[in-house]
Parts: sequence; C-alpha cells; structure tokens
Amino acid sequence: MSAPAPVSTPDFGPGLLGPIPRPTDQKLWDPAHQAMDPGQRRELQDQRVRELIRRVLETPVPLFASKLKDAGITSPDDVKGVDDLALVPLTVKQDLRDSEAGAPPWGSYRFTDARHAVRLGTSTGTTGQPTITVWTRKDIWIEYESGARNWWRFGYRPGQIITHAHPAYLYGGGTMLQQTYEYFGMLSVWVPPPDTDELAEQAVRFWTRVTPDHPFMGFATGRFIEVAGKLGISLEDAGLTGLKAPIGFGLGRGGMPLMTAGAECYSFVGGPCGESPGAHIHEDWAVVQAVDPATGQEVPDGEWGNLTVTTLDRDNGLLRYDLEEACAIVREPCPCGETSIRGLWGGRFKDLLECQGTRFQVNELEGVLRGIEAMREPSLEYQIVKPDGSGADLVVRVEVASEDPAVRQGAQEKAVAAIRDALGVSAAIDILNRDTIPRAGYKATRVIDPE
Ligand SMILES: [Zn+2]
Repeated sequence: MSAPAPVSTPDFGPGLLGPIPRPTDQKLWDPAHQAMDPGQRRELQDQRVRELIRRVLETPVPLFASKLKDAGITSPDDVKGVDDLALVPLTVKQDLRDSEAGAPPWGSYRFTDARHAVRLGTSTGTTGQPTITVWTRKDIWIEYESGARNWWRFGYRPGQIITHAHPAYLYGGGTMLQQTYEYFGMLSVWVPPPDTDELAEQAVRFWTRVTPDHPFMGFATGRFIEVAGKLGISLEDAGLTGLKAPIGFGLGRGGMPLMTAGAECYSFVGGPCGESPGAHIHEDWAVVQAVDPATGQEVPDGEWGNLTVTTLDRDNGLLRYDLEEACAIVREPCPCGETSIRGLWGGRFKDLLECQGTRFQVNELEGVLRGIEAMREPSLEYQIVKPDGSGADLVVRVEVASEDPAVRQGAQEKAVAAIRDALGVSAAIDILNRDTIPRAGYKATRVIDPE
C-alpha cells in the first residue's frame, strides 16, 4: 500500500483542535470574511477560481479538465476569475455517478488521492447508486467554520447543549453535523433517528435526563412529539416545548433560505440572518450561481435558475456543479452587516409535482396541511399519491387522531378548501386512522406511486 505524498497544510492558526474563542456578544462569527468589502471578496474569489482551474489542468482532474477543454480552456491563463466560469459546461450528479462507474471506486473527478482524505460519506442514493464523497482535514475544517457562522447567526453560543438525530455510518451527514457542533463548542447530544418507537423513546427519555438548551429541530420533530405522547412524557420534561422554526425558515412560494448544497458539495453553504430573505452565502469558499442550463449564463437576480456551485479553496472541489435544484440570488445589501449575496432555495426539480396544470413542491402542500389542527396534532402524517399530470383530483392521504366523525369530516373539508386556495388544485382527501402511514426516522416518504 503506497503512502501518498502530503497535500496542502491548512492554516489552522493557533486553534488546531478548535476555533479561537471570541466575545459572545460579537455580532458575526467571522467578521473579517462575513463583512468583507465586496470588491475585495471578489478579488479573493477570482484568485481562488484561478487556483482551482490551475489544479484541474495540472493535477490533472480528468472529468473537469475535459469540461474545460470543451470551453476552450487549456491553460490557467485562459481564466481570469468568476466571470469566466460561465464558459465552463455544468457537471451534474449523473456525471459523478458515471465517472465512478467508469473508474471505480473513486471516478476521475478527485483532486487528491482518496488516501489523503480522512472522512468518507455517500449520498443517500434515492436516485441511483450513491456517489462517494471524501474530505481531507482542510475540507472538513471549511465545513466546520461555515457551520459555525450559521450557528452564531441563530444565536447559538459555545457552552450550550444541542441535540440532533441525523443518520450516520455510510451516510456522512450525521458525523459532519455532530463534529461541527463540537468544533463550535457546544455539547451535542446525538440521539438515534426515530425509525421505530423504541428508538424515539431512547431519545425522549434521555432528553428528560440531559435536556438540550435548544429543542430538537429537524425532519423527525413530529415523531418525537408523537412518541412522547404515547409514553405520557411531558414535552416540557423532554425539552420539546418552545419549538419554533429557525429564523428565515418559511415554507411556500417565496422559497427557503439556501443553507446547504448537499453533503457532496457544500453542507453549510450559507445561513439566514433573519433580517432579509434568503441565506447569506459563504462566498469566500464558493461561487454560487442561479444558472439557466440552456445557456450556462446566470438568470437575472431574484429569478429561479439551477443551483450551481463551484467550491473554492478545498483540497477536493467541484467545478460548476449543478445540483438540479431551484435557486435564486439576491444581491441588495442587507442591514445585518454581512456583505455577501443571499440565496433562496426552491426545491429539487425532480421533486416538483404537476397536477391540473400547476407545479408545486411537496413542502408547499405540507404547509397547507400543517395549518389544520386536527391533522397537525400530535404530528402531521401524510402521503401524496404521485399525480400523473392529468386533470384528476390530487389524492392526499392524511392521518387524523380524533375518531369523532364530525372532526374528521371538518378536517377533510378544510383541507380541500385550503389546498384549492393555496395551490389552485382540486384535491381528494383520504382521512386515515393514526399509525396507518409508515414512520421514518429521518426523511419520510411523502410521495407514493398510485396503486
Ligand atoms: Zn443579513
């Protein structure tokens, strides 16, 4: 087994095992970068883009080198900076999958020997064979620092107790989140994803012993509330009261803050400040663009395009990576003091549903159902039968806890009316008893195929 030659040594400064402490009343985690003069930041981006291109060509990194060749870029001197990225063809997930299949297991898109990395994760594989991501210490450190900017904006501070239930093992997301919390300086209680009631019980009982300062927040919140109810454990004892969506998390047509570009690209690409819509993008470490895939050019500000990310200053980067998700960029200055562009996220294109001539996201429908108390309590459990794009009613199956026929019928009528108001779609609502729909510990399956 060959020992690879050392790669770049990141400048960790004095805090090799953690960040340098800073005053807790400081507004930003890293003001030098978050409030940087935009012109200076652009120069930094240009310099980092040129370095990325140089490494693609000189390493070489065959997948990206061939994309550059298609754009007529054969020398690092051909690229001056961010503006020239528009020439470079996009790379999508399927390109990475094909590359790994053609040169297993790593493919031909790595910038370093995989043995230079210290962590591995795979994508969830919901749309085909999972791709493999590897991170060097420096790549991980960039995520830690980016996550820290987010937690600080949320008002989290070192010394607090936090909890999460992210999946682990080959799916690298749980480890990344856990260690980002640790790096930031919080005591993180990592409970199992509540795939079963027994696993949910472990978490809820533990929270009555060590109660987090911030209530659990994630896809599985409803599961924990549901199981606490079954066990007769008060939500207060388990720290599950005072639940609120994090700042800037609004569902609906305006889009959500663009906080992640996926574990394979940039887990903590940005975060909301709560003073303006969207998420401040960590531009010193990424060029984030909303791109029209037909032209490769950015769409006008505020309009939806394909979320396209070029990561900067990493050992293993991605060049013009199109996540096939909707993104909009806003450039007006924000009163919070951060000087970056802001990003809005509009969902994955493959998750868009089309019914009666209208296109919408699952979470838009979820927001509507969540407004109906009989469906929301103790947790919202629903499934949508995948519409075939015809004019037929949208079939939604949703649990209602009450056995009172009047309550059930009332909820059904409310849902039909609310879906019509919000989405302009005619729906047929199947009311189900509790525990009819399979539960999930992480992301539940909300769209099912017709029977
Ligand atoms: Zn702001």
